[in-house]
Amino acid sequence: MTSDFRSSFESVALAAREHAAQTDKNASFPTATIEAARKASLLGLLSSKDVGGLGGTLRDAADLIELVARECGSSAMVLTMHFSGTVVIEAHGDLATRRDIAAGKHLSTLAFSEGGSRSHFWAPVSTAKKDGNNVTLDAEKSWITSAGHATAFVWSSKPTAGSEASTLWLVPNKTTGLSIDRPFDGLGLRGNDSAPVRARGVKIPAAHRLGDDGAGFGIMMGTVLPTFSVLIASGALGLAESLVQKTAEHASGQKYAHLQAANALADLPTIRAYVARMRIQVDMAKALWNDAITALATGRADAGLRVLEVKAAAADTAAQVADTAMRVCGGMAFRKDVGVERMFRDTRASLVMAPTSDQLYDFIGKAVCGMPLFG
Ligand SMILES: Cc1cc2nc3c(=O)[nH]c(=O)nc-3n(C[C@H](O)[C@H](O)[C@H](O)COP(=O)(O)OP(=O)(O)OC[C@H]3O[C@@H](n4cnc5c(N)ncnc54)[C@H](O)[C@@H]3O)c2cc1C
Repeated sequence: MTSDFRSSFESVALAAREHAAQTDKNASFPTATIEAARKASLLGLLSSKDVGGLGGTLRDAADLIELVARECGSSAMVLTMHFSGTVVIEAHGDLATRRDIAAGKHLSTLAFSEGGSRSHFWAPVSTAKKDGNNVTLDAEKSWITSAGHATAFVWSSKPTAGSEASTLWLVPNKTTGLSIDRPFDGLGLRGNDSAPVRARGVKIPAAHRLGDDGAGFGIMMGTVLPTFSVLIASGALGLAESLVQKTAEHASGQKYAHLQAANALADLPTIRAYVARMRIQVDMAKALWNDAITALATGRADAGLRVLEVKAAAADTAAQVADTAMRVCGGMAFRKDVGVERMFRDTRASLVMAPTSDQLYDFIGKAVCGMPLFG
């Protein structure tokens, strides 16, 4: 990592490490990590210096998320969704909200997924109706990370007029008429406070629109997807990196007392080959991750393809590496002792977070075959 912010990233990762097991056990929000990020001004990492932020790059955010995910997947997810919302607000939000994010007073997230269109987040079925200077929202949002802790949601709906796919809004968490369910009792990322949120006749000022009416799809693809895709990949690769390290430590430390020649797990060639394959898989995915970030930073022609590839590759890598870690660490991995099973569960989320891995393979296949991605 070459980031200027390295020591503050490490302070956040340390807070994540201290609370990771409890966050998972109790499915509690990783408050200590988010507070450490706030104290280090890192909630404003992607906010412009003009509004008091750190003016960091996507690579900086990717490094932070990768480091934090090595310790706590839930913390990494909450920060990923905060930065994914932040980039929309930076581009289309009002000055006061941008300043609040930069000052660490505003936690953001995305409210895209809906019960109706499920993982096809680009096609909301929820509505927004003009009502004088207000807009009335009705929606069944199926999953929102940090639902009970976010200051406001970056929210999608059908446009108020026209046939475009969507419009985006800034919807404060405390808005009357919003009902936020209890968080899911999830398999993994148990502390990320993901919950369904319903809107019944919810009124917000029309000025809370983010971008033009009908411009949501373009913002989702042009602004959200590059950040979200790279940062979800960063979280998956942080988990994968930690799994390689934990597996190697376990294999080197565990002994067979009755054997002379092969007295540690790592003395078995089969075990070493598993560890080697894990290392290669993570290094390959990290090379693609680095290249995707470079492609975006330099405006390379293949940046769009890399954005699709990086999430699919990192999610599959993390899931496969976690499977191998469970196998190599044997019965101890089945228990909580080596911390592998928590990460095994945490790796499952990036496969099904939209765009899901299967959708990405379809999109990438279409792109490679010269077909339109949608329609
Ligand atoms: C931990 C967690 C946190 C989340 N946080 C947020 C959040 O903050 N904001 C938000 O908006 N959403 C969030 N989501 C929702 C997420 O992005 C997906 O929308 C959700 O996981 C989809 O679940 P589903 O059961 O509705 O998927 P379904 O649409 O029912 O998909 C089921 C399966 O069908 C496959 N499939 C669907 N369509 C296609 C296709 N066209 N081609 C090939 N295969 C396809 C999928 O890959 C998947 O394997 C979160 C999800 C998780 C697990």
